[in-house]
Amino acid sequence: MSSGFSTRAIHVGQDPDPITGAVVTPISLSTTFAQDGVGNHKGFEYSRSGNPTRAAMETQIASLEQARYGMAFASGLAAEDNILRLLTPPHCGGKRVLLGNDAYGGTFRLISKVWSPMGFPWTAVDLTDLDKLRDDWPDDTGMIWLETPTNPLLTCFDIEGIAAIAHERGAIVVVDNTFATPYLQQPITLGADIVVHSATKYLGGHSDVVGGFVATSNDDLAERIAFTQNAAGAVPAPFDCYLVLRGVKTLAVRMDRHCQNARAVVGLLVDHGAVERVLYPQLPDHPGHAAAAKQMSDFGGMVSFQVAAGRDAAMRVADATSVFTLAESLGAVESLIEHPGAMTHMSAAGSPLEVPDNLVRLSVGIEDAADLVDDLAAALDTI
Ligand SMILES: *Cc1c(COP(=O)(O)O)cnc(C)c1O
Repeated sequence: MSSGFSTRAIHVGQDPDPITGAVVTPISLSTTFAQDGVGNHKGFEYSRSGNPTRAAMETQIASLEQARYGMAFASGLAAEDNILRLLTPPHCGGKRVLLGNDAYGGTFRLISKVWSPMGFPWTAVDLTDLDKLRDDWPDDTGMIWLETPTNPLLTCFDIEGIAAIAHERGAIVVVDNTFATPYLQQPITLGADIVVHSATKYLGGHSDVVGGFVATSNDDLAERIAFTQNAAGAVPAPFDCYLVLRGVKTLAVRMDRHCQNARAVVGLLVDHGAVERVLYPQLPDHPGHAAAAKQMSDFGGMVSFQVAAGRDAAMRVADATSVFTLAESLGAVESLIEHPGAMTHMSAAGSPLEVPDNLVRLSVGIEDAADLVDDLAAALDTI
């Protein structure tokens, strides 16, 4: 179907049930599927290998990423782990992973604490300076991994520019598109080989499901990831697939509201005396503003800021809100606030991915903008 984003979100992979006419994709709990004769089945044999609810969701999200293939996983990190398995032969066998030095703490932990001890080398790299990236490129690199915008600093990197350098040198490009979502940015159209998501965040969108997703248009990579999806078995349950499928139907309208509310919050923070610095890709002085303006259709619902009075004051702000809930995670309808240094990014302390200790991260939800602004203003007044 070559229709618009929301039409695809609501219809692709989701034809009414051919037997009952059910308009909503059924949650298929059956673990096994009857065969008409040995090896003669309707496309499903055993639910780890393939499940109808999962297939609907995989088709839906792949379409939104403009990718030919989609594979769902039990979590974002399970999806990442399956991508890293490409580092084993015969693909990028034994090769190095370059990780953008501003990334989700769990990605850093998976690469540095799980894969690296098994003998897979990795290097943290600065992706803002493409000349430096080209000059310092390690010869044994097999994969470059980046997030844009990053978690939690919201730095944006030029996907097209980085992909061109990586492809010249025979490396594959993985983009974590969790923050932007396919509504705001489609990395495969910009040259990425693989897109990965924590579906737990904006795709699910309601803080009620943990999930991961991989999209690619490369036949060879898709075959290999689909193989490990089944062989290693980190698949999501049918109910989880249903929740993500349902969440994605409203992705476009939610993202429009997230972006609009984020702008209202940024408006408060940029003029506030207690705030040292606001990190939001739309701000002209933000690192990567140019990349964001080029490759994103809007700037997203995540906002970070540094509190002038330092770490303890930043923690007090995070404690003092009432509409914003103090919690990890992001990307859902309700607004959340957190202190990355002590919460989501504690595992990156002392590493090249450490975050400033006066940083506060907001996941701006879809409540009324005025309530969010008033809540934050009141919290900032307490310090
Ligand atoms: C949350 C997150 C992940 C990990 O996903 P889980 O679903 O928690 O396993 C990966 N990348 C980013 C950017 C995230 O925010």
